[in-house]
Amino acid sequence: MERVIYDEDHEAFRDVVKEFIKRYGTNEKREKWDADGEVDRATMLAAGESGIIGLSVPEEFGGAGMLQDYRFRAIVNEESIKAGLGSLAGAFGIQDDLAVPYLAHFGTQAQKEKWLPGMATGEVIGALAMTEPGTGSDLRSIKSVAKKVDGGWILNGAKTFISSGKTADLLVTFVKTGEGNRPDAFSLVLLENGMEGFEHGKKLHKMGFAGHDTAELSFTDVFIPDENLIGGVPGHGFVQLMRNLPLERLSIGVAAAAAAEAGLLWTLDYTKSREAFGQPVADFQNTRFKLADIATTVDVLWTYVDRAIELYGQQKLTPEEAAKVKFWCTEREWEVLDTCVQLHGGYGYILEYPVARAFVDARVHRIYGGTNEIMREIVARQVTGRK
Ligand SMILES: Cc1cc2nc3c(=O)[nH]c(=O)nc-3n(C[C@H](O)[C@H](O)[C@H](O)COP(=O)(O)OP(=O)(O)OC[C@H]3O[C@@H](n4cnc5c(N)ncnc54)[C@H](O)[C@@H]3O)c2cc1C
Repeated sequence: MERVIYDEDHEAFRDVVKEFIKRYGTNEKREKWDADGEVDRATMLAAGESGIIGLSVPEEFGGAGMLQDYRFRAIVNEESIKAGLGSLAGAFGIQDDLAVPYLAHFGTQAQKEKWLPGMATGEVIGALAMTEPGTGSDLRSIKSVAKKVDGGWILNGAKTFISSGKTADLLVTFVKTGEGNRPDAFSLVLLENGMEGFEHGKKLHKMGFAGHDTAELSFTDVFIPDENLIGGVPGHGFVQLMRNLPLERLSIGVAAAAAAEAGLLWTLDYTKSREAFGQPVADFQNTRFKLADIATTVDVLWTYVDRAIELYGQQKLTPEEAAKVKFWCTEREWEVLDTCVQLHGGYGYILEYPVARAFVDARVHRIYGGTNEIMREIVARQVTGRK
């Protein structure tokens, strides 16, 4: 089904992204990222140079000023995933959808001036650190505490599963700055790599997204100067998170739709060329019907996701709508990719094949960004009117 949210400028930008991927997203590069467990800095810098990251950085700080218009970011997300480069999509997404917006929306003028230009060029890699070893879904139970001292805050605690956590220069970090667990007991602080007492833990070996780093972090008496408190006033962290999480969820929805579409294309190619019982696998009625189902699901996914992108652009995408997009799209993605793996037979299980990598990558889409159970809770609260 024709998609209608993109105009000529977007399609011209898509060509730039495809060209970038052809040059920097080779199999050789991908294998190196997978072996190293991270996307290398040179690729991030090249992405900054080509205007592929920094899209959400306001123009006055050297970016493309697309903080509210997600269409250009969606193209980067789509094309990286369709090229079988989930780790690259992840590294770009963390920068533009998870880290930059907190500074761009809530940072003080001085924070924006100091950090955003480098985030547009890729010289400063950002991350968002919320989850802790003891809690993920229940964010108000975090144990990382920042105590007020003269000129700043002393932070103790730990975080885990932080995407880009090892490579990041700057981590937007969710901490407790007050008593109890009321929303105003929390703040977001900017943690800089190299601060005394800030350590990285062991490398986490994941089932998917092998080329994108996911880190454990620990903080022992880390001094965070007042100037690193996002927005300059404590007690706003929880509200700031709630304001940006819909974007993170929209971006996962886009990734899910792109992966489903990619799965369809890979499976069409494969089943047309693979023969069994003297005929292409694509010609069995079972395969034809499965492909018909998948093609229809992909159309519905894009129709739904594109509408959400439009609503986001009009500042009308509600947290409940973003939660619906996140859980529904990632569950369709999972079903689609499972079928695609099946239609590849044994080769579908071999990581050399993009469909196998997309399948393992997809598993975490139902977990991070808020689990799909938590997404249903958000929706159910609205639907039933009950907490
Ligand atoms: C690869 C990867 C990358 C990640 N990147 C980041 C990142 O960049 N930054 C970051 O901060 N975090 C990140 N995370 C963490 C991720 O967001 C959390 O793992 C997720 O939110 C779930 O938290 P948890 O693991 O503590 O699970 P828990 O909260 O312990 O949940 C365990 C199970 O209980 C269910 N559950 C919990 N509460 C309820 C409830 N009220 N009702 C019904 N079921 C419930 C959950 O749905 C889940 O099935 C990442 C995780 C992974 C695996």
